[in-house]
Amino acid sequence: MDVSNILNNLNDAQRDAVTGALDNMLVLAGAGSGKTRVLVHRIAWLIQAEGLSPHQILAVTFTNKAAREMRGRIEELLGFTNRSMWVGTFHGLAHRLLKMHWREAKLNENFQILDADDQLRLVKRIAKQLDLDESHWPARQIVGFINAQKDEGRRAAHIDPGQGDMYQRTMVRVYTAYEEACERSGMVDFAELLLRAHELWLYHPELLQLYRQRFGHILVDEFQDTNTIQYAWLRVLAGDAVSITAVGDDDQSIYGWRGAKIENIQQFSRDFSDPKIVRLEQNYRSTSNILNAANAVIANNAGRLGKELWTEGMEGEKIDFYAGFNEQDEARFVVDQILRAVDDGMARSDIAILYRSNAQSRVMEEALIRSNVPYRIYGGQRFYDRLEIKNALAYMRLLVNRHDDAAIERVINTPVRGIGSKTIDTMREYARDHGCSLWHAGSAMVVNKLLPNRANSALEAFYDLIERLDGDTKELELAELADHVITVSGLIEHHRKEKGEKGQARIENLEELVSACKVYEPSNDEEERSVLADFLDNAALDAGEAQADEFEDSVQLMTLHSAKGLEFDTVFMVGVEEGLFPHKMSVSEPGRLEEERRLCYVGITRAMRKLYITMAESRRMHGSETYNTPSRFIKEIPTEYLTEIRMQAKVSRPVSFSRPSSPSAGFDDYDIPDTGISLGQRVYHSIFGEGVVINFEGQGKSARVQVNFDSEGSKWLVLAYAKLQAI
Ligand code: ATP
Ligand code: MG
Repeated sequence: MDVSNILNNLNDAQRDAVTGALDNMLVLAGAGSGKTRVLVHRIAWLIQAEGLSPHQILAVTFTNKAAREMRGRIEELLGFTNRSMWVGTFHGLAHRLLKMHWREAKLNENFQILDADDQLRLVKRIAKQLDLDESHWPARQIVGFINAQKDEGRRAAHIDPGQGDMYQRTMVRVYTAYEEACERSGMVDFAELLLRAHELWLYHPELLQLYRQRFGHILVDEFQDTNTIQYAWLRVLAGDAVSITAVGDDDQSIYGWRGAKIENIQQFSRDFSDPKIVRLEQNYRSTSNILNAANAVIANNAGRLGKELWTEGMEGEKIDFYAGFNEQDEARFVVDQILRAVDDGMARSDIAILYRSNAQSRVMEEALIRSNVPYRIYGGQRFYDRLEIKNALAYMRLLVNRHDDAAIERVINTPVRGIGSKTIDTMREYARDHGCSLWHAGSAMVVNKLLPNRANSALEAFYDLIERLDGDTKELELAELADHVITVSGLIEHHRKEKGEKGQARIENLEELVSACKVYEPSNDEEERSVLADFLDNAALDAGEAQADEFEDSVQLMTLHSAKGLEFDTVFMVGVEEGLFPHKMSVSEPGRLEEERRLCYVGITRAMRKLYITMAESRRMHGSETYNTPSRFIKEIPTEYLTEIRMQAKVSRPVSFSRPSSPSAGFDDYDIPDTGISLGQRVYHSIFGEGVVINFEGQGKSARVQVNFDSEGSKWLVLAYAKLQAI
């Protein structure tokens, strides 16, 4: 048997881990040291050398994208792959399990996944029914409570409502009602997937036994970000019967805010007997400048398990730091660098733009669009999260399961068909009183003519529509079905009536959905299930990872959180400002600040060859303007690894600024017309001192400029009186 291709290209420590006996193992190592590589090679090794069947492998990764990559790499090593190997995310695997054992899990066969948006809406409705004032009991907070309880494995019945504790009592009351509502409509939220999968082990020892016998080895990537319920699920499954290889990096734990427990790393050695501990210290990903910068930043965190990474790689270029005078300028800088790199022959897919929060993507997107640079977003503005797509999916969900209340709520009157909120309220009431689904409630009301005539016929028409859609699409392929649904439901026509670009974009998205259906391959061939149901489950689980332009060479945009585990030749880490990153909510709490710093460490270590860090001195976001100083994380990078790029006074490309009363086009540099002053120029004012011109309105004698003074902050000045001196 030739296993050389599995063991080639591994260093000694990696090889040691890959070939380690079938016992518990914990690989604890920094970014880019080959943890994921070890995991992949170990799977191949177990199959090739230890004789495990792919059927006996259970591998957990953090994203669906990572899972797909893992499969691909295993296939490369082995020359074949096998669908019976369980590789996926915790949520994906839990879902697979529940689909197979829905009876034991006390679910309905066609249970649907309730996404974050649907969950929020449902909670809102329940809070309203319970007469809770939204201003005191924001739905988001309640959702946070419910998810946190589930992540800890607690159902409403497990929680002591507290004697005098009004907060606790109320939360438990909503949680209870929420559980009932989900139960009734066969809906399962994300946290519930994990909780039920855990309960499946607890309440069905015979099933647990079956899986313990089945799996020969369990492997977990990104172990530092498992939360309580995920850890418990693994622990129960493994018992004393199945061994585990876990790989992780305490410095990259970035999901504390979602219940991830770094402590699970220490806990591992206690819960799993005699784990072999492996450390990997050589980094293969980044140049030494990038790696040293990352090491310097993370060194500011206390309480680390402690490790230093080294590389044999080149010193490489220094990190470029650019401070734009506003967010537009920052974006323009980024796009200019990208255009230059692409001109030099670099693939766009080797370039990533990483940001702290989703809202930052818009400005970057606009700048990319202006320069015709194809890009792709992971997370955030997700394809399957878009309103029109969710509407279309809701119709499709109803074809699979009429009792999907969330789907009914979504489309019963979209497009508008004369079913008013009164009718829907009556349906909800009926459903609640009779403990049935909205679908049942509605049909009972139609049959018994419980509604005024007009409402009755509107509702009847909706039922006819759904039944007709179902009948007409029974024999159709998935893409034909989707096409039929978006047309016959009236969705396309609905958006056609919308004014302007938006409606057009929505129609294009709906058409994209049909394309997505065309290329869809069922993920799973173990169980006989309809392709439609399979597609819908994946759409819910896989949000954002199936955009239609997947195969076009495009720049990658994503939050720092979703960049975990990935690597790119060139990385732009943008918006690195105090207040934004670290986020202002986190600076006063040491624990959260450290989590932000780990996030920064994750960001820096995504870059293989070239890293840019940028910021905007003034930023318009969420409708207001802030003035920013460079993030403390930038100051933590020793200057020997960093160069600051100075702004050029002139650029060759048109820029568009948000000018309150801007003269129309015709800009090909930063000069403010007829003033001798340029945007971005440093100026001196006799009272306020030195500053940078960041904005203007008007021109010539009547021009006003906004200057961000070094010590006084930003001020608007009439140029004619201000007597600014260029410096
Ligand atoms: P992260 O902490 O970011 O998830 P990681 O520890 O999982 O990183 P990998 O992604 O497995 O690291 O590896 C980082 C890069 O180094 C990859 O491009 C990988 O192919 C490469 N690499 C790892 N080990 C070796 C090796 N022994 N020889 C050559 N390249 C290697
Ligand atoms: Mg990895």
